[in-house]
Amino acid sequence: MVIKGLTDNGNTGFPILGKLRKGAKKTQEGRPGKDLPDYWRFTSETPGVTEAFEAVYGTEPNKLTVFLPYPKMADNWDTAKELWSGGQVLQHRCDGEKCSQWLDENSGEYVAAERDGVEPIPCPGGCKEVGRLEVILPALVDAGFVGTVTAETHSINDIVAIERALRAGDMLLTQWGWRVSQVPWFLYRSTKTIGRPRTAKERANKSLKSVRGTTDKSLVFITPDAEWMSAQVKAVQEHARTGLPAPAIKKIEMNAQQARDEALPAPRTESGLLKDEDIVTVNPATGEILDDEPPPSKEPDHWDDDPDSGQEDIIPELSNKAEFWEWAQGRFASLPERELADACRSATAETGTFDSAAEKLMEKLA
Ligand SMILES: [Zn+2]
Repeated sequence: MVIKGLTDNGNTGFPILGKLRKGAKKTQEGRPGKDLPDYWRFTSETPGVTEAFEAVYGTEPNKLTVFLPYPKMADNWDTAKELWSGGQVLQHRCDGEKCSQWLDENSGEYVAAERDGVEPIPCPGGCKEVGRLEVILPALVDAGFVGTVTAETHSINDIVAIERALRAGDMLLTQWGWRVSQVPWFLYRSTKTIGRPRTAKERANKSLKSVRGTTDKSLVFITPDAEWMSAQVKAVQEHARTGLPAPAIKKIEMNAQQARDEALPAPRTESGLLKDEDIVTVNPATGEILDDEPPPSKEPDHWDDDPDSGQEDIIPELSNKAEFWEWAQGRFASLPERELADACRSATAETGTFDSAAEKLMEKLA
């Protein structure tokens, strides 16, 4: 059972072991620390974690192999705009227009629009973009620390680039049958030249033709791990070249099936949402949908009861020439095939449908 306001918010998360930061330590209250060149600064409040981190990655790691803890990308990666006062107290969290969470100045409690069922208030302004990516660092798990690490960025360029990369990675992996949480990723920093509006001072300089200039920034990037990708690409190439499933492709297909199975909601027969006849079975090897339904009964109802006719004279539904021919061969097995073929042809020509041609045939030959 959930406790209202406590366990009903759907929040997911392991203990946060630490943070991967892009900036140097703050030297002045209210101002972010200087952006560091292409490396991460790791901080942790859990004893032993920083030591475990530095023992493997050093103090200035540029590139980290990470895992995303959750299969749904939205649980791993969160973006918002936030206003913090005094660097410590969150004032509001919004999407740039409406607040999802804000501090009630009277009670000192936070109001969460969705949780509390209240109308979101308009953003009062002053907030800044933030992107937080939850990752698992294998080295910390190896050292006995199970939890996630948050890579945080306040750069719009990072936020856009990470969003794009994760979405692309999600699409690629899903198509190959993997979940985003099943593969290793590279989380790294790299300096890129980016466009920016020129400052007022620069714009006043008439010799500069454009109001936009460029600047070099150390940005955050994430891609699936290169070695892992290379193995998958080889498997896909092999599959394309030979048409035969490479061992890795088999694995991919198994994973795809497993992911699909897990993604399928459990049949809800009790509620009546999904009746037995709506449940389809998929052949794991081919993806073909298997029809579990028994073939329609050929048993006639009593209307068709004819005491004079034997069971063999019931004409099954015949929808094509092949079915008609097979039925006719079975029913008039004693007739020479040539003669039967002629009779079938003329019956079909006379009647127009295979069902009535069969009836006609019965009239003539039975
Ligand atoms: Zn805001």
